[in-house]
Amino acid sequence: MKKYSKQLLALVICTLVLLALLPTMAYAAEGDVCEINGVGYSTLNEALEIVQDKDTIKLLANIDHDYIFINGISVTFDLDGQYTLNVGGLSATYALVVADHGEVKLLNEIIGKAELNVTASYAVYTYSDSGYVALSNATCNNGNGVGVLALGGHVKVSGNVTSLVSGYEGVYATEGAVVEVGGNVGIAGSFTYGIFVEDGANVKIYGSVAGLFYGIYSAGSANKTLEVLGDVRGGIYGVWVRDASSMITIQGILIGSESGYIRIQDIVLMQFEHEIISTKTGYLEYTDGVNFIWVKSIDPCAGGHDFSVLLEHVNATCEVDGYEIHKCSRCAETVLTTISAIGHDWNSGYVIIEPTPWSEGIMEFTCNNCQETYTVILPKLSVNSISADAFVEKLNGNKNNLIISVTELVNNEESYGQTAVTYTALFSINNNAAGIYQVGPYNVYVNTKGNTQIREIYIVDFPC
Ligand SMILES: [Zn+2]
Ligand SMILES: [Zn+2]
Repeated sequence: MKKYSKQLLALVICTLVLLALLPTMAYAAEGDVCEINGVGYSTLNEALEIVQDKDTIKLLANIDHDYIFINGISVTFDLDGQYTLNVGGLSATYALVVADHGEVKLLNEIIGKAELNVTASYAVYTYSDSGYVALSNATCNNGNGVGVLALGGHVKVSGNVTSLVSGYEGVYATEGAVVEVGGNVGIAGSFTYGIFVEDGANVKIYGSVAGLFYGIYSAGSANKTLEVLGDVRGGIYGVWVRDASSMITIQGILIGSESGYIRIQDIVLMQFEHEIISTKTGYLEYTDGVNFIWVKSIDPCAGGHDFSVLLEHVNATCEVDGYEIHKCSRCAETVLTTISAIGHDWNSGYVIIEPTPWSEGIMEFTCNNCQETYTVILPKLSVNSISADAFVEKLNGNKNNLIISVTELVNNEESYGQTAVTYTALFSINNNAAGIYQVGPYNVYVNTKGNTQIREIYIVDFPC
């Protein structure tokens, strides 16, 4: 008996030692992936089944888990600065769901090293009565889902909200939900709406936001506040505010499309159509009096305008300048460019009235472009020399033919040479006749002898 008792005592002691060592052994136990209050668990599921309000689940390894539902309790995940908890998966509809004042807190999170990442069609889903939910990255990975679906509560994403497929919204926040995203929303993926805010939502994005259709979409009548520290880009509108009333502040650049920059209810505004006076210093204001969108007033043309939009073109004529008006593609600035008159293209001219030694001529020039004409006076031809010559043709009887010619040598204006002009006339004369005969414009004295010889010939005068 004694011996047995000793054995029993030994067993009890041994058990006590074992019990004393148990937490340490659990901590060190191989195959445990997490612990709560020093008790190790080989799967996260086991830990989640017994976790109590305000417990901390400390990771002992990287964990892949399909679904976490936190209902009515506050749970802290301690990532120990080195472990990552991936929740969700390829075909998951929901990854992290929080309801009934439930909370998810993170300890020792290091982005890029120790993260809580959720991936599903609806990666994060908070009920209207949920509390504070912290995570690292939310990814929508199948079928028209949402990165962060916040129907309430306060969701803080340290990293990015991304879509791997065509998702509806990067962040959807309503019913007073507060959502903060430390990184970007929808930059690396294709959400239809980058941010969709409804009644009472308050969203702050520290990175940039992009949506296939709209960077930011706001609906519902209760006040909504949204601030983006980075850029916002929308494939149709950068921002579309459908109802009242939204206060949206964009610290970076807002990028819309040719369809519009901002749409407020049914008014579509281009980038330059901001209020002349802003109620927020340093921001361009777009408003309908109920909704306000403030975009940091970075001059899109600080580096120069882009005058690539042709508004008007008027051709230059020969005498009148033409012009073009171009508008900047980024602002309302226009520039007028003069197109110099092309000038007449005169042909080499035609003489329409020939000049003579006694009368001026007229030369006409015509423009090959516009058919306009002008004329110049051609001066009278100057006569360099005049000479007269005659001979007698002997006929039967006492009648003879007298043929007189007068030759002018005149300066030719066109050829700059001399032209010989000859006038010839025939007269019937008696033998050895003398007389004055008109030959062309000249009167010529001719005296003949010996029937056919010319005794004397000279020009008497000019007729005009
Ligand atoms: Zn410009
Ligand atoms: Zn012309």
